[in-house]
Formats: sequence, structure tokens, C-alpha cells
Amino acid sequence: TGMNDQPPAWITVDLTAIQQNVARLKEYAGDAEVMAVVKGDAYGHGLLPVARAALRGGATWLGVAQMSEALALREAGIEAPVLTWLTAPGTDFQPAVRAGIDIGVPAVWELEAAVAAARITGTTARVQLKVDTGLGRNGAFGADWDALRDAAAKAQAEGSVEVVGLFTHFAYADAPEHPTVLTQQELFAERVRDAERAGLRLQTRHMSNSAATLTQPSAAWDMVRPGLAVYGLTPVPQIGDPAHFGLRPAMRVQARATVTKRVPAGQGVSYAHTYVTDRETSLVDVPIGYADGVPRAGSSVGPVLVNGERHTVAGRVCMDQFVVDVGDEEVAAGDPIVLFGPGDGGEPTAQDWAEATGTISYEIVARMSSRLPRTYV
Ligand code: PLP
Repeated sequence: TGMNDQPPAWITVDLTAIQQNVARLKEYAGDAEVMAVVKGDAYGHGLLPVARAALRGGATWLGVAQMSEALALREAGIEAPVLTWLTAPGTDFQPAVRAGIDIGVPAVWELEAAVAAARITGTTARVQLKVDTGLGRNGAFGADWDALRDAAAKAQAEGSVEVVGLFTHFAYADAPEHPTVLTQQELFAERVRDAERAGLRLQTRHMSNSAATLTQPSAAWDMVRPGLAVYGLTPVPQIGDPAHFGLRPAMRVQARATVTKRVPAGQGVSYAHTYVTDRETSLVDVPIGYADGVPRAGSSVGPVLVNGERHTVAGRVCMDQFVVDVGDEEVAAGDPIVLFGPGDGGEPTAQDWAEATGTISYEIVARMSSRLPRTYV
């Protein structure tokens, strides 16, 4: 295949963890269905293997942001219902309509594009209306909601469109005490009533991301839409770690030491010598860098497990590598290094990396680049 079977660094994805996380989320969801959100190449874990594992775990829907992601699921033979919710003006909806993909529609122009595609293909477009209940992002707001609702009712009556569902997205579900968590639920209920009064026969109404799935059972409606929790990470680390919620992180990022060397005190390390050894010590070169998705903000702060021992990145993270000062520990070329994993082997977690670099675990996993081969176990 031309694949390097000895890559300097690689990712292992635990598909059993994905499957079990989804099964756990089904318990949180009660009677509601689970849509596993697999956008962004399944938050960096790999679209197709994750989608299949999530379906094995009991997800009945898949959610993506982009049309290309939805079509990739269909091209791989996945027949489960798929919702895609982010399209740019000018997008041709015909392939999605032909593939029976649900199109998330936040504006009249998208509804019109769906109607046009339905007419050309001689079928009915499946759409789900996206309403802004307070996030202030993508979704129909205020008077635009009235226009979208009326246009959708008209298109449905003409038979070009089937309005399958209505959905919204939380702004603050990761802060369960925030007042918007309640006001968004109230406004969503109002929009549901309004849509149904207008004659829209909604089959699915949904609003819960991972945080709401874990903390707001009353918001589950007909379906929950967890992303992060599918991957075994918690959006509410202040409430509990993944194990607290019965979840297990699926991604492990590993490398092998390339060069180790003994250096004297006073040796500057990596670009600009932001780290200087304070004693005779051993340095280990770790072949993974920001081109692989390691945040450069991890310079001098990122945690790493070298040969079973915790250390911190010494100096700058470079494009393809960084250095660790392991003191007098014995480390040889080829020895194992873990950037992050589930954490039960003493390795850092994605959450640890997020805290060290001032971001969220979503970004840590989603930014891991395609240069790192993914292995599925
Ligand atoms: N629903 C929508 C519309 C989203 O954009 C996302 C991701 O941001 C999700 C659900 C899943 O969110 P989370 O990963 O927080 O569970």
C-alpha cells in the first residue's frame, strides 16, 4: 500500500470504546434516539470506522457538518439516516437529495435550493429546520423563523419537501446552571408548537449536544446529538472525568524516540533555546510536531509519557518534532512515547493537553492531522 509500517508517530483508535460510549449515551438518552456526530473526520478519529462503531453501539442517526462528509458516508454504503447542517450558498443539493440525506436548513435560501434539487431529481428533499434559540450562530432567528416556517409549510404542501425535523443547538450546555440552558429549552418548545401549528409533521425534534445529553435529560426530546462524548471525552470536566460518566477516551497518540543524547548543563534545546539544561542530562527527540496537530502552545508545558514516565516538552514544539529532558532515566531510540490516551496507563489525556495549552479537548483531538496514520483496534 506504500504505507509506512514503522511511522514515527501514529494514532490508535479504540473502536470498542466508541461503541461502548454510544451504548452508554443511549442510557442517558432514555427513550430518545442517538445521533452520533461524526463531523470533522469524526473529531479526528476517522469518519467511516467511527460511524460504523457508533451504529454498532446503538446510534440510529449520524450527524455531520458538511455535505461532503454526508456523501462520504453514503458512498461507503452506510444507509443510516444522516443529517448535514452546514452548506454554503451555491451548493448543489442534488447529490444529497438523491442519497436521501437530511439537509439542515437554517434559512429560506437553503430551503429553495432543496426544493430546486427535488424538482430536478423528481424526488422529495428531506429537510430539518434549524432554529436559533439563543446560540446566535447558524439557525433561523426572530422574523426569519416565521419566513422559514411558512416557506417550509408551502414547500411541504407542494410535495417537493418533507420537513422531517426541527432542531437547535445550545450555547452553554457545558455550564448547566447558566440561565440560557432553560430559556433555550423554552423557546425551542415554542418553536416546535409553532411549526406543528403551521402543519409541519415533525418526526424528530432535537437539541442536546454531549453536555446536555449528560446533564439535561429533560432536553432529550426525540433524539440527542452527542459528538465529544462519543469519543469518550467530557465537555464538562468540572463535573467529572470521562470515567465519572461511564465513558472511555478512544484516541491514543503515540510515537517512538528517534535520537537520545547525553548533554552537559547549559545546553540550549530546540529553536531559540527557550529551554536550557541546568545539569548534565539526557534529551530525547520525539518525532511529532505541529504539522501533526500538536499545538505549538504546548512548548515547555505539554505533558508526555516517555517509557512510562511523565515529562514535559522541553522548549519549542517544532513542525515535526519536539524534545524531552528525561534527566538520568534510561531511554533508547525506539522507546515508546505517548502524547495522550485514556489516562489509565499513566499517560496524559487530551483534557490534560487542553488545560496545558489553553484550549478544549475538542480541539486537541480534532486537529490531529492526516499525516498521522490511524490504526483501529
Ligand atoms: N449538534 C450540532 C449542531 C453541532 O454543531 C455539534 C458540534 O459542535 C454537536 C451537535 C455535537 O456537540 P458536542 O461535541 O458538544 O456533543
